[in-house]
Order: sequence, then structure tokens, then C-alpha cells
Amino acid sequence: MNHLLLLAPLPDFLLQPLRAAYVCHDGVTDLEGVLAREAGLIRGIVLAGGTIVPEALLERLPALEILSVFGVGYDGVPVDVCRRRGLRVTNTPDVLTDDVADLAVALVLMTSRRLAEAERFVRAGEWPAGPFPLAHALRGKTAGIFGLGRIGAAIARRLAVHGLHIAYHGRRRQPVDYAYCSSLQELAAVSDFLIVACPGGGATRQAVDNEVLAALGPQGTLINIARGSVVDEAALVRALEAGAIRAAGLDVFENEPQVPEALLASPRVVLLPHVGSATQETRVAMAGLVVENLAAHFGGRPLLTPVA
Ligand code: NAP
Repeated sequence: MNHLLLLAPLPDFLLQPLRAAYVCHDGVTDLEGVLAREAGLIRGIVLAGGTIVPEALLERLPALEILSVFGVGYDGVPVDVCRRRGLRVTNTPDVLTDDVADLAVALVLMTSRRLAEAERFVRAGEWPAGPFPLAHALRGKTAGIFGLGRIGAAIARRLAVHGLHIAYHGRRRQPVDYAYCSSLQELAAVSDFLIVACPGGGATRQAVDNEVLAALGPQGTLINIARGSVVDEAALVRALEAGAIRAAGLDVFENEPQVPEALLASPRVVLLPHVGSATQETRVAMAGLVVENLAAHFGGRPLLTPVA
């Protein structure tokens, strides 16, 4: 049996088929021990979307052939290094697109209609003392999508149905009817909701900074379902405290699972624990892709969803 290094906690419905077909080594709790004993045997790594794979780790695995990401984002994998070494990389695109897009819409609704605040209001017994303050409608507002890829386009389709205008920014104009903005700042300036849906990694690190938040403005809301690294979190805290933007809906954070105290304390921020793809149906489908990509690789067949 081939040997795999597991670099993230994985659900049972993924662990079971992996353990049935491979010798699996726990790299989460005993990485150094596994490397000391088995480094020369490891042919595959299984990791999650947020897992960081240092280049130095790859250098310690001479028999490594494939890295299979249980997630679509692979910003923690040094893909250029993998390509140079001829290592294959796979991820789990498409099967999670609908769930993540649904979650983005939920965050748009939760922030615009102040739903989390309204729920806390009822639970706190404040309703008998008077009605909940008025919120804001979606109709006629503009959603600016930063990264009109699989998830970004699914968000755009959903929000168009809710009556929003759609604009987007990416590295290139696409053959779509939505308004293209050639810079992120320009997109923020036309947006009521700036929705981050691009990949993480060096190219987008802290792209949503002071200037972008200032352009979004006091009527604007930031939604992030992509990666915490794309937003300058300190700048976001300052913008919220100063009223420079109205609200934020966040599924991802710079240092997960740590969430800055200032965000926890702000009633205008909706906070979710990175649950964009966290449904039974989707996680099972993602697990299936991990298993099938590994089986294809070790069976000498084409990969289903290769990144490299
Ligand atoms: P995708 O199809 O590759 O779309 C990414 C989009 O971002 C592309 O349209 C690309 O357009 C744009 N982009 C890439 N690099 C850019 C850059 N440097 N500047 C501006 N735009 C850039 O990926 P996806 O499947 O939609 O997933 C998007 C991201 O969502 C993933 O990478 C992942 O980090 C995140 N995600 C989060 C969760 C969650 O649980 N919250 C779940 C799944 C995914 P151009 O090529 O035109 O620039």
C-alpha cells in the first residue's frame, strides 16, 4: 500500500476510504515523528484548504508525488515549487460553489437586514420596549465582486435575482454583462457590498486595505467568504470603529480560529467560523474528489481536478 501524510484533521467519511486504500500517517499531531520514521515512504499528502505546506517540508519527502487538497483554495501550497519538482496538486472545485455562494448571500442579507442583531434583540427581551430599528433594502444596490470565478459568478447570479446591480474586478475583463472595474478601488467606490471571492496568497494579500475601505464608504459593507489574508484586518477594524464603512460579514479571518476582540465586540459585524462549504452533502462530494484524484494518480489515470 502507498503511504500518505495527512496534514489536516479530516472527517470520518474521508478518513475511512483513505485508511482502506493507503497507509495513513498523522502529520497533525506527530509530524516530526512521522518524518523521522517514514519520510522516505510518503508518496502523497492530503491537506485542507487552509493548511500551509512549507517548501522545507516538501524537501524532506523524496518519494512525494502528489498533494491532494480537501478544498478549492490551495494558497497554502507552494504550487510553483511543486511544478518544478513535477509534483501533482489537486483540489475540489465546483462541488462547493453553490454552498459558498449561498453563504455569501446569507451574509449580504444578514448585514443589510441586521438579522443577527435582530435575533439578539428578541432573545434579550428588548422587543416589548419598542420595535427593532429599520434596516436597509437590497433592491437597486450594487454588489461588487472581487474575483468573478466559479464562486464569484454564482454569487453574482444569486444577487441579480435579489435586484442588485453587479460589478466586478479581476485581472481580466470577462465576456459577461456585468460592469468591469479595472481596479479594486474603483470597484469599491461603485459598490454597496464589496464581496471578496478571489483566491488568497501573495498576489491578493491585504488587497482590501485602508484606501479600498475608504472608497467603499460609510454606506458600504464588506463581505469576505474567500480568505482572511485578502483583507487588512487592522484596517477593517479601524474603518468599522470610525464609521468609514457600515458593516462587515466575515466567514474567514487572518489568523483563524482567532478573531480580533474589536470584531467580536462590534454589533455591525456578522462573524461565521469558516463554514462556506460546511454542509454534509458538499463535504462528502469534496471527500469523493480527494479519494478519486489519489486513485487516478496511483492508478496511472488522468487526474479529475488537477491544479498542477
Ligand atoms: P476560481 O474559480 O479560481 O475564481 C477565482 C477568481 O479570482 C477568478 O475569477 C480570478 O479571475 C480572480 N483572481 C485570481 N487572482 C486574482 C488576483 N490576483 N486579483 C484579482 N482577481 C484574481 O476560484 P473559486 O472556486 O471561485 O474559489 C475562490 C476562492 O474562494 C478560493 O480560492 C478559496 O480561497 C475561497 N473559498 C472559501 C470557502 C469558504 O469556506 N469560505 C470555500 C471555498 C472557497 P481572473 O483570473 O480574471 O483574475
